[in-house]
Amino acid sequence: MNSNKLIEYLQTWYEAQCDGDWEHDYGVSITTLDNPGWGVKINLYGTILENKVFEEIVLEGRQGWIDCRVIDNQFRGYADPHKLTQILAIFVEWAQTEKDWLATPAPTPQKSLDIEFLLSLGEEIGPEICKRSSCKQKRISHSVFCKMHHFEMIRGYLPPD
Ligand SMILES: [Zn+2]
Repeated sequence: MNSNKLIEYLQTWYEAQCDGDWEHDYGVSITTLDNPGWGVKINLYGTILENKVFEEIVLEGRQGWIDCRVIDNQFRGYADPHKLTQILAIFVEWAQTEKDWLATPAPTPQKSLDIEFLLSLGEEIGPEICKRSSCKQKRISHSVFCKMHHFEMIRGYLPPD
């Protein structure tokens, strides 16, 4: 695989993972080592490559060295100064053995996000009563509303049960 193609594939894969969320916590890093050499880390969490088996590749000889493995859902490739492209090729070729390798991660269902948000609002500590007319609940700590009505004000719909 030529280098341009390789970078293009990595770029396409990365772009496919970015969903407004994934990229805040995960990503790809390429650094140099003081050995000297190259280090590539690619996060697989939330991608279609998560939990996919990777047979580690460890080679050392007159032609230099390379060490690629997957640890903690992270592809980690290290190699001598001549082998950055080889690390990337190992990753891309491995990724491509998965038919849907460019599939985007499954989005978190809206209901889970709603429940998470609801839980983050904390307890209805009061002592004041929710400002919504005829509501008898106490207010939560950073709002004049109870949990349900604060949720509704922010989201524009009532929370799930
Ligand atoms: Zn209320």
